[in-house]
Amino acid sequence: MRYLFFSLFAIIILASCAYNKLTGTNQLSLISDSEIFKTSDSMYRDYLNKSKVISNRENMDVQMVQRVGKKIVQAVNQYYADRNMQSQLNEYRWEYHLVQNAEVNAWCMPGGKIVVYTGILSMTKTEAELAVIMGHEVSHALLNHGKQRMSQSMLLNLGSLALSSAVSDKSARARSNFEIAYGIGTQVGLALPFSRKHETEADQFGLIWTAMAGYNPNEAIPLWQRMSIASGNDVPEFFRTHPTGVNRIKAIKAYMPQAMKFYKQ
Ligand SMILES: [Zn+2]
Repeated sequence: MRYLFFSLFAIIILASCAYNKLTGTNQLSLISDSEIFKTSDSMYRDYLNKSKVISNRENMDVQMVQRVGKKIVQAVNQYYADRNMQSQLNEYRWEYHLVQNAEVNAWCMPGGKIVVYTGILSMTKTEAELAVIMGHEVSHALLNHGKQRMSQSMLLNLGSLALSSAVSDKSARARSNFEIAYGIGTQVGLALPFSRKHETEADQFGLIWTAMAGYNPNEAIPLWQRMSIASGNDVPEFFRTHPTGVNRIKAIKAYMPQAMKFYKQ
């Protein structure tokens, strides 16, 4: 029985890897992009309906979030086009919203659904620093990090339930796994943290988008220094999902020469 159980697991995993062109690796994927993007879109609408979205177009911060978001997305489109990978972005519908919330946080859901909290703008001193944050979040989405966490959470669910019931009511299950992976729509703090490896990947690609968008990627250094000091005091929400290591700034500095090759002044 145990053997059968693990064989089923092995089959599910083998049958469920998707190739990510950005990293050139196979990733665990128990759910298709179309399914995940549909769930993402509906969770995003729910979230925006329940939140204080700042929609005044005259608001300078709203304008900045829109401007930085568009530039980052342009950079991503360019990078993918240069490498003949545009089709990977076909189903993305990018959106950027500023939400009134004192927490230091920002995120990007699968399919390009971005939220910046007003709280993080008290940490970012310049537009380039906001670009670093948004570039980091967009990278998590492009690298399918949320999807991998969702797939892991689905496997955990499969482990505790009979397979037959696990595959029934797919959309309810998708929502529940989504909530676990993102902590959105649930109590604050339930979100699974990204792994250190995912953080490093998001930092590196984020610096590339920042540079291509015309912002100096070196501005990442004072930003992360300030963020890491703040994380010691009151542990902003951001660090629950984006664990920072003592080596983060060192790793960013080491990667900077590569990022600078993309910098268009
Ligand atoms: Zn992160």
